[in-house]
Amino acid sequence: MKRLVMGILAHVDAGKTTLSEAILYGSGALRKAGRVDHGDAFFDTDPLERERGITIRAKSTVFRLGEREAFLLDTPGHVDFSTEAERVLRVLDCAVLVISSTDGVQAHTLTLWRLLERFAIPVFVFVNKTDLPGMPREGLMSALKEKLDGGCMDFSGTAEELAEEIALCDETLLERYLESGRVTDEDCRELIAKRKLFPCCFGSALKGDGVEEFLGILSRLAPVPAYPLEFGARAFKVAYDDKGNRLTWLKVTGGTLKAKSRLTNAHSGEAGEVDVGAGEVWEEKADQIRVYKGVKFETVEEMEAGGICAVTGLTRTRAGDGFGIERDDRESFLEPVFRYQAFTPGNADPRKVLEALRRLEEEEPSLRVEWDAAAQSVQVRLMGEIQAEILKRRLQERFRLNVEFGAGAIVYRETIAAPVEGVGHFEPLRHYAEVRLLLEPLPPGSGIRYASVCPEDRLSRNWQRLILTHLAEREHVGVLTGSPVTDIRFTLLNGRAHEKHTEGGDFREAVYRAVRQGLMSAQSVLLEPWYSFRLEVPANQSGRAASDIRRMGGESVPPETLGETALLTGEAPAAALKDYAKEVAAYTHGLGQFSCQVSAFRPCGNQADIVARIGYDPERDIENPAGSVFCAHGAGYVVAWERVPEMAHTERVWRPEKGSAARPGMSGQRSAGASGDIADKELQAIFERTYGPVKARREAQIREARREPPERARLPRQPTGPEYLLVDGYNIIFAWEDLKAVALGHLDAARKILCDSLCDYQSMRGCVVIAVFDAYKVKGNPGSHERYHNIDVVYTKEAETADTYIERATYEIGKEHKVRVATSDGPEQLIILGHGALRVSASMFREEMEAARVRIAELIARNNRAAPTGAIRAAMEAAANARAAQPDTNAHAAQPDANARAAQPDANANAAFRAAQARKSSVVGENPTKRKFLP
Ligand code: GDP
Ligand code: MG
Repeated sequence: MKRLVMGILAHVDAGKTTLSEAILYGSGALRKAGRVDHGDAFFDTDPLERERGITIRAKSTVFRLGEREAFLLDTPGHVDFSTEAERVLRVLDCAVLVISSTDGVQAHTLTLWRLLERFAIPVFVFVNKTDLPGMPREGLMSALKEKLDGGCMDFSGTAEELAEEIALCDETLLERYLESGRVTDEDCRELIAKRKLFPCCFGSALKGDGVEEFLGILSRLAPVPAYPLEFGARAFKVAYDDKGNRLTWLKVTGGTLKAKSRLTNAHSGEAGEVDVGAGEVWEEKADQIRVYKGVKFETVEEMEAGGICAVTGLTRTRAGDGFGIERDDRESFLEPVFRYQAFTPGNADPRKVLEALRRLEEEEPSLRVEWDAAAQSVQVRLMGEIQAEILKRRLQERFRLNVEFGAGAIVYRETIAAPVEGVGHFEPLRHYAEVRLLLEPLPPGSGIRYASVCPEDRLSRNWQRLILTHLAEREHVGVLTGSPVTDIRFTLLNGRAHEKHTEGGDFREAVYRAVRQGLMSAQSVLLEPWYSFRLEVPANQSGRAASDIRRMGGESVPPETLGETALLTGEAPAAALKDYAKEVAAYTHGLGQFSCQVSAFRPCGNQADIVARIGYDPERDIENPAGSVFCAHGAGYVVAWERVPEMAHTERVWRPEKGSAARPGMSGQRSAGASGDIADKELQAIFERTYGPVKARREAQIREARREPPERARLPRQPTGPEYLLVDGYNIIFAWEDLKAVALGHLDAARKILCDSLCDYQSMRGCVVIAVFDAYKVKGNPGSHERYHNIDVVYTKEAETADTYIERATYEIGKEHKVRVATSDGPEQLIILGHGALRVSASMFREEMEAARVRIAELIARNNRAAPTGAIRAAMEAAANARAAQPDTNAHAAQPDANARAAQPDANANAAFRAAQARKSSVVGENPTKRKFLP
């Protein structure tokens, strides 16, 4: 059967819900049309929605439309919920735009129109409330043609008039029409699908007038999409049903989805093609396939392409995920740009709020829930006060939590003022990767772009692809404030792999480091979001409106007068426009209309102040290292970012030009003697072919920003010593399933494996690592701390738990050092965070370890392979083998039981290793004798 997915969009109160009801009633899917006003509308199932008569979350129902099975998705109407509306839009085959004849085309209608335009969605217009006195039909039609599109046509007129008008939309159609005198449905469908024609119907959803005719037109003329046979699906929503089952809403976009089949986030693709943004690969069973009719559902065995269904059994999906042939698509140009802090009045537990918001975040990923350690509270991204209010209600109703939100703060971005090279090298023992990137500023609103000019004889195509994938797979953060970077083009200039030792993950490390190294060397520019706005006010107030915009530092074209109203369009900083809608309502006494959406990120006027206030220190952001890892005498060591270019192995092919326009020159390709360096015409031509003409760059604002001195000098005082990582040993062991399995047999072996892994981690990250183990039950135990290779191991004394120790330690050490604590979720986390330390959960820490290429699994496998008898000894040997490259120094793991102590491998000092150790220490500025310890 043919399928159609449609959505209904409208300005609030235009009658979207009422029309949905009327359509379902008219098609026989509903026996009685509900009434929004009676609170029994079929779609408005949420108590909050019923109470307010507004629609917040998308719902779906299925009905028969002529020969087709039609899925109707109810879309949120208020602009504050647009990220959700946007995801729904991505799966629509066509849209119905409802306009109230009493209001005509409103500012919000235009916002919706632009969205539909952006997603190229065919539109049918329903002009509602014709039972009420309103604008005459001709007036409405000319407003639609003028404000929306000339292709809007009144489909209630006589067939001949209409045919001629339609034929005029398209030249080839006009020729045919002049010959045949006819316009067929086929012709119309094609024009509608191409968005050249927009049928408009008039009626009253409430009275049921014109609804049947409208359905007839829809079933005749709606597009008939074609789908491939290969399986594909797109998740546009995650929600929970009333029983608490997690539902993933999907549109099947290829082949068939069968109940009980397995879904994975790994994508099928051509051989050798890499998937962008993969992350951890998972596979889960799509248990039940449900087809919803409002709140009720039917389970089906399969859903074919073109259909909408809700699937149970999936726990890892997020709105925006793509499956099979569909790629993930989470980017949103409607991302909220204000960050709100959640307050819990009284003594409510902020962790509960965090948990609840994380759950809501699955449903609405744009919330971007974050824990703010300093403020001991949760932060979320919202578009405005209304969304904050709804969220408050939702937290109260679903989770019984009373939460208040503070004033919204701007979410910044960063870019760079001039082109710069970034170099990253990653070479721990038996690994190798090096990357050279060019980072160039792009005009505001460009986002991030990627390109490569690296010849394939230098670095094979597969590695190049992988590098571009790693560039694209995450948000890179800037060095001014730690905000995501934007408006930058990353171009791969050069790179090197090792025949034997390079693995995929090595390039990830090298690429990330190259980006950060480049950013550290660049002059960074702080950007703030700007809105493009549309403001309609009574004509006599256009002067006030224009001067408001000027006062905000915004830009607008001179007001355009349309009869009694004046229209202003332009752009202004989001911060200034945040509450302007209220102001407009006040000074126009409710007559004004204001709508806006994010247009671009532009340089901030007061960069220095903001940077100082945020107080981010890039050198301490160990999640995003700018330094590189080089190798000497068989051991990896960290090199600070300033020194990476001089130590890099690949040839330098780009140099900054004097003057403003940046032209990447390729030196070293010609034989010596040719004027050599830059701007060789031929090479530049290649460069431009690869990624477009190199234009003279960027506006006065950037030039302005460039004049500012580097911001880092003005940071408030930060802790100066090396960073500490405290690891709650047993807690981590029992949080990691594989290590737990080892621990259940032999706790000592597990402890040893953890400590060895931490040694590797330390050598990669260069922080001070302290592993803390509980020994508080051991009678008369005085506690101990000892050096084990390059880390410290602490056993707590009698009556002191690891928690207590860590709490005390973070407090003491935190005075002069940054401290992070790796532990599983537990009550202690808040105390630790209270001392300004950062908590890393067991699973996050595992990821971090894996990212640092610490092979826990390998150590465990070796442990398991060893003979089962004398297990401790075997584990020790296995671990010792694993550490063959880094033999023991004189220290050994502190063990409270003499048994395990005896099993320690021999402590043969190795001069080379010590030297490497010492070098590592000096690189990170660590003086072993000065490490902080608690009694
Ligand atoms: P939504 O916010 O777009 O979903 O609009 P609703 O469907 O909730 O309708 C808003 C209000 O307009 C309700 O009070 C409806 O009863 C009323 N309404 C909807 N359609 C019509 C119509 O065709 N004629 C009249 N007179 N009122 C209507
Ligand atoms: Mg509604």
